[in-house]
Amino acid sequence: SIPLGFFGGIGGASRHGILIKGTNYLEVLNNLESVVMDKTGTLTKGIFKVTEVNAENNIKINDFQNNKTELTKPLLLKYAAHIEKFSNHPIAQSIVSEYENSASKVDENVVKDFEEISGFGVKVNINNHQFLAGNSKLMDLKNIKFEKNRNLGTVIYFAADQKYIGNILISDEIKEDSEKAIKGMKENGVKEIVMLTGDNETIGKNIAKKLGIDKVFTELLPDEKVEKLEEIYKSKSEKGKVAFVGDGINDAPVLARADLGIAMGGAGSDAAIEAADVVIMNDEPSKVVTAIKIAKKTKEIVW
Ligand code: ADP
Ligand code: MG
Repeated sequence: SIPLGFFGGIGGASRHGILIKGTNYLEVLNNLESVVMDKTGTLTKGIFKVTEVNAENNIKINDFQNNKTELTKPLLLKYAAHIEKFSNHPIAQSIVSEYENSASKVDENVVKDFEEISGFGVKVNINNHQFLAGNSKLMDLKNIKFEKNRNLGTVIYFAADQKYIGNILISDEIKEDSEKAIKGMKENGVKEIVMLTGDNETIGKNIAKKLGIDKVFTELLPDEKVEKLEEIYKSKSEKGKVAFVGDGINDAPVLARADLGIAMGGAGSDAAIEAADVVIMNDEPSKVVTAIKIAKKTKEIVW
């Protein structure tokens, strides 16, 4: 039978906005050795803002009224918003709102054959032309020649009919709470904190350094995030447990694979909340520290 104190632990956690889906997870929380974290939406707010629009020179493109015209920054932003309209990714939403802020609106009817390429970007057809939007890996995958934007931020590259037409730089902010979370986990016995991200190396390393994260792996596809988790399993001690903290966008498989899957309940996807063992209702990563502390206290009471 399950000692009553365990239920007290779950109740205590729920009063802090932490939903623990079973008493066995309190035991896992007591033995956490590695905490693996997603970047976007977990350590950062996942609220991106467009900071640069860079259109290539000498590109002729349809002006949406069937006239050929020179590509300009506003026209690239207009295309970008149409390409990203049907994506739920926070990157996509920031591009759409940047465009729609200027009293313009995306015409959904012109966007056909929308396809999400998980971990890479998106593909659509607009007025019988093929468009791609995504990271540098997407450009490489589709054999599109482009020039890298090395400024600090997340870069989305665009192509029309297999030709590179420009990029948009967007920045996200680190959550105020993230530093406290990393520090608190270490003070409470977590030996190693790892960040996994699909985003670029410049931004990944910068954030890891700012937050005191031990290891960072960047430019990962969803499957590669699972592979990294498997590597972490191989290098840990026999008793040590591994948690993964994510928002579920492109990381649901890792959430499911970890000994303890912790999902952000506010910004997180429904699938993530479903797949997770623990849900943090207000999206503060430091709630992981609260959960560890509650688990430790519960153990003292139970034994
Ligand atoms: P993270 O690991 O940082 O949470 P994701 O796995 O969600 O990132 O996405 C990985 C990368 O794939 C993003 O950084 C971006 O480069 C690219 N990407 C994903 N979805 C889109 C999209 N809708 N538009 C453009 N790029 C995208
Ligand atoms: Mg994510």
